[in-house]
Amino acid sequence: MKNQKMAILEGIGVSDGIILARPFIINRAELIVKESKLGKKEAEAEINRFLEAIELSKEQLRKVRAAMAKTTGEKSAQIIDAQLVFLEDTSMINEITGQIRSELKNPEFILDRKMKETISRLEKVNNQYLRDRTHDFQDVFRRVTANLLGFKREILKKPEGEYILVIDHLAPSETTQVFHEGFCGIVTEMGGKTSHVAIMAKTMEIPTVLGVVDATRQVPPEGILIVDGSRGKVVVNPPSPLIKKYEEYQKKLGLQRREFSKLKPLIPKALDGHRITLSANIELPEEIRAVNKYNAEGVGLFRTEVIYTTQEESPTEEEQYQIYRQLAQDVKPHSAIIRTFDIGGDKFSSHFDHSFEPNPFLGWRAIRIGLTHPELLKIQMRAILRASVLKNLKMMFPMISTLDEIYEVKKLLDETKDELRAKGQLFDEKIQIGIMIEVPSAALIARELAKHVDFFSIGTNDLTQYIMAADRGNARVSYLYQSYNPAVLKLIQQVVVAGHFEGIWVGLCGELAGDPRATIMLLGMGLDEFSTNPISVPAVKKIIRSVNFSDAQLVAEEIRRFTTEKEMIEFLDRKNKELLPAEILDNPLFSPIKVADLV
Ligand code: PEP
Ligand code: MG
Repeated sequence: MKNQKMAILEGIGVSDGIILARPFIINRAELIVKESKLGKKEAEAEINRFLEAIELSKEQLRKVRAAMAKTTGEKSAQIIDAQLVFLEDTSMINEITGQIRSELKNPEFILDRKMKETISRLEKVNNQYLRDRTHDFQDVFRRVTANLLGFKREILKKPEGEYILVIDHLAPSETTQVFHEGFCGIVTEMGGKTSHVAIMAKTMEIPTVLGVVDATRQVPPEGILIVDGSRGKVVVNPPSPLIKKYEEYQKKLGLQRREFSKLKPLIPKALDGHRITLSANIELPEEIRAVNKYNAEGVGLFRTEVIYTTQEESPTEEEQYQIYRQLAQDVKPHSAIIRTFDIGGDKFSSHFDHSFEPNPFLGWRAIRIGLTHPELLKIQMRAILRASVLKNLKMMFPMISTLDEIYEVKKLLDETKDELRAKGQLFDEKIQIGIMIEVPSAALIARELAKHVDFFSIGTNDLTQYIMAADRGNARVSYLYQSYNPAVLKLIQQVVVAGHFEGIWVGLCGELAGDPRATIMLLGMGLDEFSTNPISVPAVKKIIRSVNFSDAQLVAEEIRRFTTEKEMIEFLDRKNKELLPAEILDNPLFSPIKVADLV
């Protein structure tokens, strides 16, 4: 369409990647429910019709559940169980049938009223988990209503070709169908970071932006759309130079993918033989697929917060054990580092009272919560220990800032081990224990801390925000959040030296580990392990395999000469150009296209 104005819509980016395609818009009109009066006899027949609709809905949901278990795994299929439990709830059914009988009103009307009441109650509760589940309840009510009205459920059938789905909201029971249909991007008006569609989109690597206000009305049905799942932007009607730029980028990505697939069997080793471990960060057990796809050497960071933030009840020892045990199995012959819960900061959970947190990143977070609730931390420790029998799990503690915290954590761990031994429960007696180095105080006393643990993993995402005193999520101070500030890099270097001095291995699991600009410098610092997003593994591996460790060491040595981030970046860009072959420098992943370049 000519002369259509470009617009940029903002939402929540939940699954990385950029995609350009035509939109396929589904704007589902609300089911229209009319109120009608019944005779007494009629009421009984209507009650039967209501009960039949409940049975039909259960049957449909069981089929959806089976399909989900097959395509996306048992864990994600469990989301449907909550809907089934709701339909089995006799008190809810009795309440509705009682009202049909006493008020002599049609079941659709009574059900619709109940739905509105329940949803308005849920939206007001002070519990993020329950609020996030509002759409699940809405979905199950709508299913029963549609069955009562004799409607076939909306079928998300994609036309032939590449399409981005733009929809009001996606119920968990519909999500699998969207993936089946092969939509290449998703934009919804509702949904948050912990919603089912967010989790699934990430697992399936489909660029997705949720929570775009009025998306189904703002996106015109014709024309082209760009979805930037990394930054939460949707570009409507991009001009042709922009489309061209994007298409070139796509082409390069295709070439690069083919190039990267050749790297799969190769190991991350520098030209002169220096070997490091290249593992991946994940937060969902399902992401193990991506770990294997990109051939990462195991999991360098399993963030366990999602287990706590996506369910209403605090996860039990058994539930956690099953997850960690499966991970240990799936990651073999490599290992996985399980980090105990890092709740707080920007990740809140309904199981803890975060109501008074004027400064959440400097407040009650991670190990600080664990040490005030040792009973909860011990449940997690027990689950990890029990799952460690395959001898390929390691345990890591986040946000350590003092030596005393290590003493306390180790005391709890010893108690937990003793309790397991007393019960005859097996676990890996030699399980490695590590800490995140992400608080400046810990970095500065790293030599002391190293005497008490088996490894360090440097968390540059937090270390940067605490060194620079710039909130990692605050756009106003993002200019100060400088991962390449020499203050940050010098401290990383000190930590590596301190760890090695005490004979322990040192890894890095912040975003910096996956940034190709930093790879040579980090290699030269002597890091033993890089843990990155699964998708960044090939680029980092390619760079490591293209340089000599001795040259990388010279680069790392020079960082002490600089005082500003600008100088540091210029220096690294110069060195990268000098040391790397053109095929890497021309690679789009090496200088990824920024949304600023796009719009
Ligand atoms: C970090 O802080 O660098 C890190 C890896 O942990 P998270 O991003 O989960 O805080
Ligand atoms: Mg961190």
